[in-house]
Amino acid sequence: MSESQRILLFYWQKNNVLMYQIARQQVKAETSFLSLVALPRLVVIPMMLTFLLAYLLVFVFKLTLHALNNRYLQRHGETVPPPFVGLIDGEALATASAYTLAKGRLSLLRSVVDAALTLIFLFTGPLAWYDGWIAGFELGFIVSGLLFFLLLSVAQSLVAIPFDLYHHFRLESRYGFNRMTFKLWFVDQLKGMLLSLIFFGLLGSGALWLVQAAPQSWWLWVWGLLVGFGLLMTVISPYLIEPLFFKFEPLKLEGLEEAIRGMMSKAGLSVSKVLQVDASKRSGHSNAYFTGLGKQKRVVLFDTLLAQLRGEEILAVLAHELGHMVKRHIRKRLLLMATLALGFCFAAFWLVSWTALPQLVGMEEASFYARVLIVTVLAGIVTFPLTPISSARSRRDEDEADDFAVELHGNGDDLATALLTMSKENLSNLHPHPFYARWYYSHPPVVARVERLRRKD
Ligand SMILES: [Zn+2]
Repeated sequence: MSESQRILLFYWQKNNVLMYQIARQQVKAETSFLSLVALPRLVVIPMMLTFLLAYLLVFVFKLTLHALNNRYLQRHGETVPPPFVGLIDGEALATASAYTLAKGRLSLLRSVVDAALTLIFLFTGPLAWYDGWIAGFELGFIVSGLLFFLLLSVAQSLVAIPFDLYHHFRLESRYGFNRMTFKLWFVDQLKGMLLSLIFFGLLGSGALWLVQAAPQSWWLWVWGLLVGFGLLMTVISPYLIEPLFFKFEPLKLEGLEEAIRGMMSKAGLSVSKVLQVDASKRSGHSNAYFTGLGKQKRVVLFDTLLAQLRGEEILAVLAHELGHMVKRHIRKRLLLMATLALGFCFAAFWLVSWTALPQLVGMEEASFYARVLIVTVLAGIVTFPLTPISSARSRRDEDEADDFAVELHGNGDDLATALLTMSKENLSNLHPHPFYARWYYSHPPVVARVERLRRKD
């Protein structure tokens, strides 16, 4: 090999190495380019799209149910259902329909606004920015987490305020239900916010502390904290929280004391557990409910209900509420909720530590808090199909309490007429779409319920 050939070879080799290096750089650049652009395109975008589509699917399904219910009411709204014949006329029925439609429109607007804000926050960048902004303060795990969720819930409350104001002072006022002054509304809001802040602080810092202290088993401890808190609230709420808003008094019904005492002792309960509440200070709507566990069990009747019903009807409603007490419906419901919460906590633990979770909203990285937020939205989607199961369970409890009432009170007709009067006074929807009622209703639709009671007589 001549000197000139050797030089040529050297340059050729050097050039080749150079070319090889350039080629390698390009491959490297291409892979890193792939990981930045193509990976999101290939993995993140399908995941994000699936999540977005699932969210939209649930939303569209809710809108369809709403539209179905409205169409059904518009089609049947002028027919007086057989049990109501003689009790309400066409005009009252038209008012009830208009009220149902107006309430539906407001809740529809509310869910559209909520969904739009959620989608914008999650999918268009604000979440990533917010997550980074909170991290920038370097406040430590617990304080950062509290701030993260506190500001979000403040924002959520601010969005809810105009809807709440419209609900009370336009809608409820127009149909003669609102009895609240603006001052009372404002004081209620203030008390509510203060209470939420206290409970949020206690529960939030407790849960975050557990996450930090037991990174591998926090789902179990947080579940214990949630269940303990739920039980504590059930027990203390009637003594510490409800009296902040309402005045509870022993039932004082001229001429009915004897009958109430007789009924209570027949059910093996003490009279001190039946109270009346000054609901009329806020609203004209009437209702009755049963709450509490163990010794704290109590039946509460709205003063508005006492003003609407005859003595025998009040006894029948009381018998129904005692049915919930005797059949231990609160305890059963709490047990079911606790079991579901265990599953939810474990799923949340697993999902929060899943590396790809932020990709659901198109993010590469996310803090623990942002991950929890994504899991919460995901839980809303996944649990929505369970709504009809929970509703059906609740309606079964109502049937059980009705059966108990018929037996204890001696007839079903007084409860039936009480329900008819309450529906008429509350402008209830007498024509819900059967599928809508099956999905959402915690109580059987009134017409079916009255017909069932009358069959029992
Ligand atoms: Zn009930």
